[in-house]
Amino acid sequence: MGTKINEIDEIKLELKRDLRDSFSSDSVDQLNTKYLGKQGKINTLFKTLPVKTDPKIGRQINELKNLIQEMLSAKLTETMGDEQHSIDVTIPGTEIPRGSLHLVTQAIEEIETIFLRLGFVRRRYPEVETDWYYAEGLNIPKEHPARDDQETFYVGDNTVLTAHTSNGQLREMELKKSPPIKMINIGKTYRRQIDASHTPMFHQFEGLVIDKEINITNLLGVTEYFAKSYFGQDRRTRLRPHHFQFTEPSFEIDVTCGVCQGTGVIHKIPCKVCKSGWLELGGAGMVHPNVLRNGGLNPDECTGFAFGWGVERVLMMKSNLPDLRLIYSDDIRFLKQF
Ligand SMILES: [Zn+2]
Repeated sequence: MGTKINEIDEIKLELKRDLRDSFSSDSVDQLNTKYLGKQGKINTLFKTLPVKTDPKIGRQINELKNLIQEMLSAKLTETMGDEQHSIDVTIPGTEIPRGSLHLVTQAIEEIETIFLRLGFVRRRYPEVETDWYYAEGLNIPKEHPARDDQETFYVGDNTVLTAHTSNGQLREMELKKSPPIKMINIGKTYRRQIDASHTPMFHQFEGLVIDKEINITNLLGVTEYFAKSYFGQDRRTRLRPHHFQFTEPSFEIDVTCGVCQGTGVIHKIPCKVCKSGWLELGGAGMVHPNVLRNGGLNPDECTGFAFGWGVERVLMMKSNLPDLRLIYSDDIRFLKQF
């Protein structure tokens, strides 16, 4: 008879353990089935113990049944209270400030989209570069005075942080091996400089188009398309002769000023943003035959144009920012305006 009583005690212990491990109303439901269901432990006791011959046992099982009902009911109330608390949608939450893409990232995406529409391929070439791709291969021999203008950060005797994205020109020619080439290389560049319109690190986008019979008209067309897409349909562009080692002929590209609409004056007062109605976009030109050769191409069979313009520069030209350094300040009051 002792063993029968032990079975009742064992069920009590098991129930306590089960209740301790139950944290949801679903699991309490399962316990209800386990103990009080048709095939549950209580019914099994009634069937297996000698209830008829020993009324005491019947009473004990009934007491146990009542106890289980009480405990499950209490646990159910507890878990439902917890569940209600955890999904109380009426409690005001803590608002997390919503971020957005940085101005420069937005500009890069916009520039990339414009050139992808023209069939350009987006590239990323090294920011730490050897002298060959950075200068010598671009027709700037060692000891050439053109190197003095570069304000380059040298990492080693033969390695630099690129001051322009033109290293991508030779790398693209090596990658493609033959025309047509139509790439836009957007990346970080570094120069020893800092003032209202210069930072030591900034971004450039470098375009390179090489094919049979590519000429200056094609360069003008792409320039015009970019200026109108990025700055607005009312903008115009012009070429000014210039000199670069890696292009021949070379140009500076200007875009009409958005503040004075290219007139150079506002209410008869000279425009403070531009010089006589024009803003400088950046350098461009026809790829020098030596550069084509250094990239493994034959200048008798193909020609091309290239340009390298500043992401921050076009961003400033578009938004009329007074100081480039604002873009890299951590003042979110400034950044939030965009
Ligand atoms: Zn102006």
